[in-house]
Amino acid sequence: MRVCIDAGHDGVIDCGAVGQRGCLESDISLYTALALKENLQARGHEVVMTRECNDERLYSLMRRVNIANEAAADLFISLHCNAAENTAAKGMEVFTSPGETGADPFATMIYEELAAMFPDQLQRTDYSDGDPDKEARFTVLMETNMPAVLVEMGFITNWQEEAELCDPKRQAEIAVAIGRAVDRYAAEYC
Ligand SMILES: [Zn+2]
Repeated sequence: MRVCIDAGHDGVIDCGAVGQRGCLESDISLYTALALKENLQARGHEVVMTRECNDERLYSLMRRVNIANEAAADLFISLHCNAAENTAAKGMEVFTSPGETGADPFATMIYEELAAMFPDQLQRTDYSDGDPDKEARFTVLMETNMPAVLVEMGFITNWQEEAELCDPKRQAEIAVAIGRAVDRYAAEYC
């Protein structure tokens, strides 16, 4: 499988959300993306990155979409941290574009692997359409040609989750969970 990993935000013009401890979403997404790259390559997958460093050229979301489409990736995974004014908000979320697409079974696999890896972590789900993922019209989900998911790995605005998100061990565990989901998807759909 050729997998495009998109580390959310760019770390130059747009650092994303900032936690109470000062952690930047753009750093967490980048470090987790690099851990995921390593994990997927070890599983024998080919990886295309939208960025591997802080990169101001990614200011337009369509640049990320074009990288994935031009590489003819089989899957697209965008990594982000959530933010809320309510600092008690917590949990992980997996998003797909609205409607039933090839992304839905993949999103369900990611959800299941994250829930198995982090049994104490709240998984924020939306079962109104029969599966646990949430749906949103994000550009990177709408405009990519391949099954695309966006993972909100936790709330950077939550004191405890921010510390977890910044922890390289946690980032590696998220990478393992998503890597397992990619392997399951490859076994079932390729
Ligand atoms: Zn974000």
